[in-house]
Amino acid sequence: MKNKKSLLKRLGLGLTSLITIPLICIGIQLYQNNYSRPLTDNPEMELANVRKDLKINKNLKINIDYTSEGSYSSKNIDNSYNILLDFDMGRNEAGLRHELCHIKNGDLDKIFHYKLSERAVYFLWAEPRATICSLGGN
Ligand SMILES: [Zn+2]
Repeated sequence: MKNKKSLLKRLGLGLTSLITIPLICIGIQLYQNNYSRPLTDNPEMELANVRKDLKINKNLKINIDYTSEGSYSSKNIDNSYNILLDFDMGRNEAGLRHELCHIKNGDLDKIFHYKLSERAVYFLWAEPRATICSLGGN
């Protein structure tokens, strides 16, 4: 009986985490989108500055561009990376830092999007870690 109660407590804590951690991340990202320094019209210069600040490996090839199709980063077959930052949501220093943190942490080197458990790891670990990492900028 005691084990059943303990299991229910853990299940409740797990479900609460599944809801609150992504909500906190979304809240931080919305706040950053309004108050972080907007990036200039020179994305390569912005990338170089933030990349230096985050001490990203100099050997990694990273391409950057602005878009109107959402902000995200991806890894190419030649091991280079792309960062696309949306004009409305993410074209700011925090957005750039967030995507660079995903690259720095190796989040794009793993496949997170196929199994439910991988998605959970992404939303409960990789996304909060990138969000916290992005807090260091202006
Ligand atoms: Zn992210």
